[in-house]
Amino acid sequence: MVAVSKTKPLAAVLEAYAAGQRDFGENYVQELVDKAPQAPADVRWHFIGHLQSNKAKMLLEGVPNLAVVETVDSEKLAKKLDRVRADIQNHADAPARPLDIFLQVNTSGEESKSGVEPSEVAALAAAVRDGCPHLRVAGLMTIGMPDYSSRPENFECLRACRKEVAQTLGVPEDALELSMGMSGDFEAAIEMGSTNVRVGSTIFGARDYGAKK
Ligand SMILES: *Cc1c(COP(=O)(O)O)cnc(C)c1O
Repeated sequence: MVAVSKTKPLAAVLEAYAAGQRDFGENYVQELVDKAPQAPADVRWHFIGHLQSNKAKMLLEGVPNLAVVETVDSEKLAKKLDRVRADIQNHADAPARPLDIFLQVNTSGEESKSGVEPSEVAALAAAVRDGCPHLRVAGLMTIGMPDYSSRPENFECLRACRKEVAQTLGVPEDALELSMGMSGDFEAAIEMGSTNVRVGSTIFGARDYGAKK
């Protein structure tokens, strides 16, 4: 479970940490680079927001304990993350392992949603494998329809995408995480095979966007 702490104060993160939580999710680069250095170093930060290529450097340099970028949805963004990770690895004290990424899939077909088309995700996975040695495709992520009744189809779609990506990469399906499910539907998502639910308001309470700078 990823505790989504966006817009919530550091104190909320620390309280959940004290209760044993280690995986936290954030959507905004600036907010995460502010919070991460103030939180314990063994927090596993998940970036779950839309990431612009020009913020990749700020994100990776500002969050050394970034566990995964869940929202890679283009080859351009992957290449940028790969280059930044390579630069960071040239420093002696930097991690030598590749950065884990999830490929974000637009399973609901809504124009407004980020994510690669389901039909294009296997090609994107292959492009990352072949062209981004400092990244590792560790899973797939989707948000799905706001209308919960459509989520089962969205979740089913992500599972089918994983099957295809696993075949393309030559890895077992269960080597790839399925990031799907939020406060309103995490139970259904788990029943449908989610291995990574992103839960915010159920843990931390409703978000007050007015309070965000
Ligand atoms: C905010 C957010 C969540 C958490 O949403 P809740 O409904 O508060 O649980 C999960 N995933 C993404 C991508 C988000 O932006």
